[in-house]
Order: sequence, then C-alpha cells, then structure tokens
Amino acid sequence: MRNESQDAWKDIGFYFIPNAFTAENKPESINDTADFSINQITLGDEEIPYDLTNNKLLLKLTNELLPGETKNVKINYTLELPENGTRLSKVNDNFHLAQWYPMLGHYQKGWNIKDFDIKGESYHTSYGDYVVNYELPKDYLVVSSGQDGLIVPASSGKIEGTNIKDFYLGLLNPKEWTSKSAIVNDTNLRVFLPSDKPDFSEEMSKSAIEAYAYLESNLGENPFHELDIIGNNGQMEYPNVIEVSNDQQNFEHTLVHEIAHQWFYYMVSNDPHKDAWLDEGLTEFVTSMYLTEKYNEVVGYEFANNLSQISSINGIVNLALDEFEKAEYVPTVYGKTPILLRDFFKDHGGQEEALQFLSEYFKAYKFKYVDSKTFADFLNEYFEEDKSDFEEKWLNIE
Ligand SMILES: [Zn+2]
Repeated sequence: MRNESQDAWKDIGFYFIPNAFTAENKPESINDTADFSINQITLGDEEIPYDLTNNKLLLKLTNELLPGETKNVKINYTLELPENGTRLSKVNDNFHLAQWYPMLGHYQKGWNIKDFDIKGESYHTSYGDYVVNYELPKDYLVVSSGQDGLIVPASSGKIEGTNIKDFYLGLLNPKEWTSKSAIVNDTNLRVFLPSDKPDFSEEMSKSAIEAYAYLESNLGENPFHELDIIGNNGQMEYPNVIEVSNDQQNFEHTLVHEIAHQWFYYMVSNDPHKDAWLDEGLTEFVTSMYLTEKYNEVVGYEFANNLSQISSINGIVNLALDEFEKAEYVPTVYGKTPILLRDFFKDHGGQEEALQFLSEYFKAYKFKYVDSKTFADFLNEYFEEDKSDFEEKWLNIE
C-alpha cells in the first residue's frame, strides 16, 4: 500500500464489514451472525496492533507511513458467513461473499469510514487491482467481479480483475443453478437462475442484452468483458456482478436498474454514504428512461412515481445516510430524484437531451469520484447557464 496523501499516516483505515454482523453489532433485521477471527496483521515484516470498532478497522502503525512511501499489509483472518444474511450470506450450499475482506477506505484528511448502515451503502471504497487465488473443498461455480470465463465448476483457480471498487465472489453449488452465457458487443453476460424453478434464462438474457446494449450506446462504453447476473433476489449491484430477482413475471425493472449501476456507482463513483442519490437516483432515472422508450412513460416511471407519492419525502435529496429518517431514504433518493430530473429535462430538450447530458457526465467522470457539487457544476457547465435556482431546491451544496 502506498501513501498518496500529503500527510504522514499514524494509522491505515479499512472497512471490515463482517464486524457489523456480529451478535453485538448486527442490524435487527438479520438473524444469524458472522463469526470471524483476525489472527495476525503485518506491515512489512512487522506484526502491528489494530483497533476494530463497528466496521472500521484501523491498523496502528508503530512508525509513520510517510507520503509516497509503500509498504505491504497482510491481514490473516477466518470468516464464517451469516446464514440467509443480507449481501454477505450463506444460502444452502451457496456462498455470497460481498464485503468479505478488509476494504481500504478513502483518506480525506483522515480516514472517511462511517459506521455500517443497512439502509443503504455506507462504504466508500477505491478502485484497485485484484488477484484472488481460491482452493475449495469441492467444485463450485465461481461468479466474481474478476474475469471468470467459461461457466464450469471448479475447486481451485485464480481470478484477476482491474479497476474494481469492491470485489464480489460468489461460490454456487452447480446442482442448484442453471446458467446461460450471451454476448453483447464485447461483453459476456452470464445469467444464473435457481434450477428448482422453471428455466427462463433465455428470456432474462434477452432482456439483459437489450438493456446493456442501450446503456452502452446511450451512456458510453463499458470496458469490462464480463457481467454476471445472479437471480437470487439479492437486488444488489457490485462491480461486474449483479444480484437480481428470479420472478419470471416481474424481473425486468430490477435487472435494468442493477445493470445501470455499472455506469453510476461503479464506473462513475461517489461516496454512497454522503451522496446516495448520485448512484441510486441517477441509476433509477436511466432505468425509467429505458423503460419509457421500450414501453411508455407510465410503465417507465411506475417505480419512481409510486415511491414519490409516499408522504415521507425529504425536500433535500443529498442528505447523508444517517441524516435521513429511515422512512424517507428510499422514496426521496429512488422516487423524488428521477421524477425531478425528468421534469427538469421536459423543459430542457426531453429524454434525448437527458441521455446526452448523462453520457457527457459519464465521459467526464469515468473511473473518477464525484460528489453533489461536481454534478451541480457540471449541469451549469453543460447548459452554459447558472442553474443554481433549480439545484438549490433539492441539493445542499457546501
Ligand atoms: Zn440501486
């Protein structure tokens, strides 16, 4: 690890989310707990102490790590997943390893690591390159943020991936899943559905291809060659992996939403604790536009409209996760945001202009970090006009 800041570090901060799932810390909605033990942490050749509170793991350095200095960190730990948990979960003989390792935090004049909050995504991780070697007691289907290739069960191997924000690793029992690969542009979409349900992988692949191609042509190229789609009703996005609904009658909205997150959340990155609307709100806006083009506006905005009619909506969409009331978060971020952007663009060139704007925004900030101010400034710049009267109605910009 390299200190790229101007400050000498006395500590190094990681998210260690399994500690948010212990008996003491776990959210009420989760029944089972995560069990882990950290055996040893070393920096260079030296064993160092650490401090673990909530999901914040702070390595205590005996000697400061100076600006520009590089040292290797080794963290040796064991982990037992919560059964039927949220995200990080063991379900039957399947292991969904989400946020399962110490994830390096952002250093912004101190480590920006907030407490775990199950309401949304409370962790802000950095892009990095990964090599994951695995050895398993038997064959599993390996579904990860890296490049996994052909869908064949394996018990050992090596996965690599570059520019990954957080590395997801799923180990699926081959007997419990049917799968299908489909190529769109230069990306392999690999769909996994439970084998105890009627097989509609063909239909899901078709929907995924259509949405993916639309997003690439309207927003910009996705350079990754594999996107894995797991129908486990997880409804979550990870780099190059999404967890979606396996309800044949009702899967399209979540499928499109989670695919669109590859653009907003993954390839354009923001702190989701601070500015969740930049990933969730923009993703839902794009999803609504796609479904509007495919069906009509009523279908396209059905999800956002239903949410925006809920009474508990905050006037400001860019509150931090812990500033929203529990009931406000989803309707405000997923409901209000797409509707107000749709209405704004109705007076500013319509859906076509909205997509053009988002593709310029994507081009400007691909693999970069943005915040609410970046977005507001970009909107002013794009229209070559001060739009702060509009922005101030729903954004707090420092
Ligand atoms: Zn989302």
